[in-house]
Amino acid sequence: GLTILQHHISSRRLILLTILLALVLMRLILLPTYHDSMPSTVHDLSAFQPVRATLPSTDKKKPDPIRWLKENSNNRYAVSRRSPPNFSLLHSSKPRAALISLVRNSELEGMMQSMRQLESRWNRKYQYPWIFFNDEPFTEEFKAATRNLTSAKCYYEVVPREHWSLPEWIDEGRFMNSLEYLGTIGVGKGWMVSYHHMCRWNSGFFYKHPFLKNYDWYWRVEPDVHYFCDIDYDVFRFMRDNNMKYGFNMNILDDARSFPSLWTRTRAFATAHPHLIHPEADLGWLLDSTNGNEYNNCQFFSNFEIGSLNFWRGEPNEEYFNWLDEAGGFYYERFGDAPVHTLSVAMFAPKSEVWFFRDIGYQHDINHHCPPHREGKCSCQPTRMDENFYKLVPLESPQRKPADTCIRQFLGG
Ligand code: GDP
Ligand code: MN
Repeated sequence: GLTILQHHISSRRLILLTILLALVLMRLILLPTYHDSMPSTVHDLSAFQPVRATLPSTDKKKPDPIRWLKENSNNRYAVSRRSPPNFSLLHSSKPRAALISLVRNSELEGMMQSMRQLESRWNRKYQYPWIFFNDEPFTEEFKAATRNLTSAKCYYEVVPREHWSLPEWIDEGRFMNSLEYLGTIGVGKGWMVSYHHMCRWNSGFFYKHPFLKNYDWYWRVEPDVHYFCDIDYDVFRFMRDNNMKYGFNMNILDDARSFPSLWTRTRAFATAHPHLIHPEADLGWLLDSTNGNEYNNCQFFSNFEIGSLNFWRGEPNEEYFNWLDEAGGFYYERFGDAPVHTLSVAMFAPKSEVWFFRDIGYQHDINHHCPPHREGKCSCQPTRMDENFYKLVPLESPQRKPADTCIRQFLGG
């Protein structure tokens, strides 16, 4: 009787063991590569996965955007002329950095789209936290849906009232008249009170938010944008190790009627504060030599930014922002954070510490940028214009896009 019982137990054990083994095997086979569920539609670019097998075997080398640029470009202006920067061996700690996004509850869908792509292209590998900002509290729906798209930490912060309201020196009546005027002449979103607050917040307040106190670096993310390419290195380490202050990847020529007094005001600032202008600053690429060296309205398209918070916190930028703010241009006109950031970076940072992230394919509305020479890494088709950035061939007039001239000027100056 005993031996039968023993036999019975061991065969039950064998069955259990087999089931367990099968479960482990199934788990291994079905283990998802990414923590978030991949979207199923073909049109959703976040679903795109590069075919790694066809890539050249440079993966053993540490990806270095500067080396990549040298190898893929015959544009002598492409790489900064400063002594060769590199990934530093001195820093081993992770930069104190975050993905930051000012967004409304109503833009949840668009936010999810941007997040899915940036997570699958980059952040699933690097796990930087997301910090969402809003002028009102985020809904539980917004929080749950965004949290669900990342395994990194998410934080939800309300903008302090004093960072999002009319300063006491602004004449409300005059502001109301300006809203009407800007609306009538058709300056984009110039009639919206909130748009003025938003531009001012992005110009002079985001880096003052108490929650960012322990952070040094940020990547600005907007709802409804697209990231086309795999990014195989830590952009924040790259910024830190190369002592970069500001990174961009598109330029625009925004409606100059939104900032009629900006250039005069800026020139007056520079005259009054010559000691704040960086000795290696380069404003040349922003001047129109055909028009008495007036501002040519070139701007870094600031919905994409990877930058140093401490640059904005520094005295030169603070002085400059207050100088502009006191004159009321964020309300009586519609100063955008794009021209304000551009002028600040151009005046207060050395040119060699401003980086063109041409390897990061990106789209905001109708503006897009698709890097060539990244075969198998991007889900976009480079245009001839994209190609030409790497060669500095003469621009042909039919394809000539003024905003691209801005980048030419930036690179060539
Ligand atoms: P555009 O890119 O200049 O057309 O301006 P957007 O409408 O895209 O606004 C720029 C950024 O600010 C986006 O991330 C928006 O989500 C955000 N934004 C604009 N207005 C508001 C607002 O009133 N409240 C909040 N929370 N975010 C805003
Ligand atoms: Mn936008």
